[in-house]
Amino acid sequence: MAAPARKRTTDLALHGGAPVRSVPLPYGRQTIRDCDVDAVTKTLRSALLTTGPAVEQFEQAVCRKVGAQFAVAVSSGTAALHAACHAIGIGPGDEVIVPVMTFAATANAVAMCGATPRFADVEPRTLLLNAESVRGLISPKTKAVIAVDYAGLPCEYEALSELCRERGLTLLADACHSLGGALDGKPVGSLADVTIFSFHPVKQITTGEGGMLVTSDEKIARRARQFRNHGITTDVRQREERGTWFYEMAELGHNYRLSDLQCSLGLSQLPAVDEWVEKRRQVAAKYDAAFRGSSFVRPLGSRPSAKHAYHLYVIELKLEALSCGRDEVFSALRAEGIGAMVHYIPVHLHPYYRRTQGTDPGLCPVAERAYARILSLPIFPSMTDADATDVLAALKKIGDHYGK
Ligand SMILES: *Cc1c(COP(=O)(O)O)cnc(C)c1O
Repeated sequence: MAAPARKRTTDLALHGGAPVRSVPLPYGRQTIRDCDVDAVTKTLRSALLTTGPAVEQFEQAVCRKVGAQFAVAVSSGTAALHAACHAIGIGPGDEVIVPVMTFAATANAVAMCGATPRFADVEPRTLLLNAESVRGLISPKTKAVIAVDYAGLPCEYEALSELCRERGLTLLADACHSLGGALDGKPVGSLADVTIFSFHPVKQITTGEGGMLVTSDEKIARRARQFRNHGITTDVRQREERGTWFYEMAELGHNYRLSDLQCSLGLSQLPAVDEWVEKRRQVAAKYDAAFRGSSFVRPLGSRPSAKHAYHLYVIELKLEALSCGRDEVFSALRAEGIGAMVHYIPVHLHPYYRRTQGTDPGLCPVAERAYARILSLPIFPSMTDADATDVLAALKKIGDHYGK
């Protein structure tokens, strides 16, 4: 009997060759240590599972970390975006400018307030929103701009702030990718009127699900805090402390609260953020070095004035150098055990916005061109050097196969 044919390691796993990895590498993953488990367990055994002391402690810890005065913890980054839009007074008839290279939630928060997101194209090198593209979209109805620190690179907030100040607009920062980042030494969280963070497991720190908005405007913070608790002016803990049962609902709100279990996890994770961002930067540096002079991979650009938090490591494929498209490279990477992703489908191309706003392809040519070429490679704090080597080996196999 003939021995079974050995799978050749040079053949793409997609075509039956041996994969680079037998255990798949995800594109992102949380880091949970024993101290995190202990922190949650301790709260689980305490009197208050929600609206207890951990909420305010976590809010204050984030304020100190990012140089903000007020913070409001909520149940997700999406809830934080919604609460922020509501708290700055966005409502029906208003327009808010958002970049299209983002997760849909950035624009959805505007729509949830009954207002209209106006879609801005992005810069080709970084895929970030800039002041030029904002300027061209300002109308008498424009009330605010939501800048998105795509991939973890802070936007050019000096120029954006100046433009917003000139035109009387509120500047929000969707910093769901950039906790731990900075611009000219100033931390993300201190660069816009309101900054929004997410604590989803793939983000810099996690609370399972969770989010927060930070601001130095007390009125905005108060309104967001009310919005997260049904529009009620006090929370149950404040009433307890004052010895009263009486409460009033001043406006329509949500249950967007973040529990003490989640806040105690966040409190435990937060002190590690700088170390974890540094680990992400080390992975990015290895990728950067490998792609210098690559015939078919071009990493997105960075800026020396900005500290990149590397939530994502995004590459653009030079399709002219390949005999296939992005989707084949994606499938080939997955077959090799490398969990690539695509961030993002430009928001205006989602059926909901095409139907409700008539935003067809062609509206944002830079983002649409990038969308056909981008891939996010695995990057997370506990990734090893050998993991990153596997990613590069898989890409090399794919380049050798599809390269022209
Ligand atoms: C993750 C993310 C959100 C939403 O955060 P959730 O916590 O998942 O609701 C919003 N905007 C961007 C850019 C994100 O990456």
